[in-house]
Amino acid sequence: PPSLEVQGLAYAYPDGTQALYGVDVVIGRGERVALLGPNGAGKTTLVLHLNGILNGGLGTVRVGGLAVDPKDRKALREIRRRVGVVFQDPDDQLFMPTVREDVAFGPANLGLRGAELQSRVESALARVGMSEVADRPPQHLSFGQRRRVAVATVLAMEPEILVLDEPSSNLDPAGRRELAEILLSLDVTVLMVTHDLPYAAQLCPRSLILSGGVIVADGPTPDLLGDE
Ligand code: ADP
Ligand code: ADP
Repeated sequence: PPSLEVQGLAYAYPDGTQALYGVDVVIGRGERVALLGPNGAGKTTLVLHLNGILNGGLGTVRVGGLAVDPKDRKALREIRRRVGVVFQDPDDQLFMPTVREDVAFGPANLGLRGAELQSRVESALARVGMSEVADRPPQHLSFGQRRRVAVATVLAMEPEILVLDEPSSNLDPAGRRELAEILLSLDVTVLMVTHDLPYAAQLCPRSLILSGGVIVADGPTPDLLGDE
């Protein structure tokens, strides 16, 4: 099955604000897709539906073939593992005394122990180039390093799809380049919410443009962004 299938997703907030009007998206395994669109377009609302944080609207969301069903708590746990969200602010995601403990937290919560847990953690740290700082407190790292550790905490869950909210924000050119290289080296499906069009063009062969709660464009990023 595809990594993500969204069909007819419509959602209004409790105050009546209609944020999504019938969104359809299919993302195949291993694709890297940018989710673009102006403020208020519904990007955050869509992302919050992918792991069941928001629900109660119309339509269906499937992750690796498994439907997001807020009434099925076991399925929802599995969905939360499959949809790995990297928040815009890494400090919302890092709260343990050391980098290694932060990366171990999720898989330990899944019940992994011993050598299996350790290999998950070491491999996630290696994939983001953070093995060397594993024993340090996250607060002692640079912002760019903290963002990479936040990516590792999600990779350690072996997600079906990695969702990143504004991954290039607050990074200097070197930090942008390092993160881009890491994201390009992963074989995981990626959905990246961003306003950074050059970053989208560099990393994502395909883009979606959401506007007013509707997908208004879906195609190859160079076609959507034009040549300017
Ligand atoms: P984006 O992430 O693209 O900026 P959002 O998904 O945050 O867009 O918002 C989509 C629409 O839903 C906007 O009109 C926004 O004002 C509205 N909205 C977002 N969150 C809430 C909320 N908690 N309650 C009511 N309306 C909301
Ligand atoms: P982003 O730019 O990352 O999409 P937003 O500025 O759209 O973030 O929203 C930030 C937070 O404010 C979100 O948690 C969103 O749900 C909330 N929010 C946005 N619009 C509204 C609204 N009209 N009423 C209540 N909460 C809102």
